[in-house]
Amino acid sequence: MNMENASLEYAKKLDAQDVLYKYREEFYTKENGIYLDGNSLGLMSKRSEASLLEIVEAWKQHGIDGWTEGEHPWFYLSEKLGEKMAPLVGAFSDEIIVTASTTGNLHQLVATFYQPKEEKTKILADTITFPSDIYALKSQLRLKGFDPEEHLVRVESRDGHTLSEEDIIAAMDNTISVIVLSSILYRSGQILDMKRLTTEAHKRGIIIGFDLCHSIGSIPHELSEWGVDFAFWCTYKHLNGGPGSVGALYVNRKHFGKVPGLAGWFSSKKENQFDMDHELVPEEHAGAYQIGTPHVLSMAPLIGALEMFTEAGITRIREKSLKLTSYMMKLFEQELSTYGFIMRNPLEENRRGGHLFIEHPEAARICKALKANGIIPDFRAPNGIRLAPVALYNTFEDVWKTVQVLKQIMDEEQYKKFENKRGVVA
Ligand SMILES: *Cc1c(COP(=O)(O)O)cnc(C)c1O
Repeated sequence: MNMENASLEYAKKLDAQDVLYKYREEFYTKENGIYLDGNSLGLMSKRSEASLLEIVEAWKQHGIDGWTEGEHPWFYLSEKLGEKMAPLVGAFSDEIIVTASTTGNLHQLVATFYQPKEEKTKILADTITFPSDIYALKSQLRLKGFDPEEHLVRVESRDGHTLSEEDIIAAMDNTISVIVLSSILYRSGQILDMKRLTTEAHKRGIIIGFDLCHSIGSIPHELSEWGVDFAFWCTYKHLNGGPGSVGALYVNRKHFGKVPGLAGWFSSKKENQFDMDHELVPEEHAGAYQIGTPHVLSMAPLIGALEMFTEAGITRIREKSLKLTSYMMKLFEQELSTYGFIMRNPLEENRRGGHLFIEHPEAARICKALKANGIIPDFRAPNGIRLAPVALYNTFEDVWKTVQVLKQIMDEEQYKKFENKRGVVA
């Protein structure tokens, strides 16, 4: 990039060419603030607010009848929202259900698919994944009477930030029963080659599932085509469903008819559920993986949020996201190369997710200084800064300003006014 391209005018030109620019208006952004933490908690949109209020109104108007009446009958909402998510993950509508939380869904799926037999008794994961996933896998092993120390195999990272598909494949030996990996690693933002890993797992008779928390709403997937066995994700990051919004899961059609590991009355075929029979007849699709009454109020904002994904399309969202992160990387190179920042996210487009991951010894207090300047980053201990310019509500001007402010923070040593320690959440 030359000097001219590092100008504010150039950023504005990119915004003027952006076909998704209009969606920014749909979100509650701050006048003089820049929100770059959409990979932890997406911003609230006006459509989410409206759909939340609609559900609240339905409760007010219909009481118990809200389950089957009103514009969004609650009894069918988990399935309806699953249909809306299908294009985002490349699945058939009936392979998805909106239910529970990420970790709860991981428990449900492993309780179902981890069926240790003969020498196949181990679960394969990795050493740099999100801790909740490891806690869940260890407890599932214990529940089946295995020692996690021996039966949870974790692939090491060579550089502490990324995983090599070769190393993962090499670990797929005949003792592995199930593999659980992230589609995009939560720190470095590396995309794993899900298609290749699925093919290799299946060659060895291993079931494979992915945690899509950081890829849902950020990159396209082809879960059905790749033959992925199961997947699960949250909806409060790139999908903007709001704090604690209900998660989702995917089960490949070839597994329909299995009895869920953790059953409840919402696992029932819908038409049988209110027969109240003690013999469960599970739903024939992903709906079988529900347990109890859906958290309707925590699904409501998704109705509005997902509409925008349907309209904008995940392909266009991914195109813009790559442009935003490429632009930010170039500006970092040009403006901030002498300040000790190290870019840890993959540089290649096909391996880079929706956020950048940058390390700096003063990261904790640089994040505090950014916040004092109205820019919201995401700190990851001990020294990582995640910056997520989100396609639906961030602009190229946001990216440009962020780099300018960061340069000023470094030049003026503004970060020294703060303690180099993390806060409770980020
Ligand atoms: C955010 C995130 C989670 C969160 O799990 P919850 O059960 O929704 O709290 C799990 N795994 C990964 C990879 C995440 O990024």
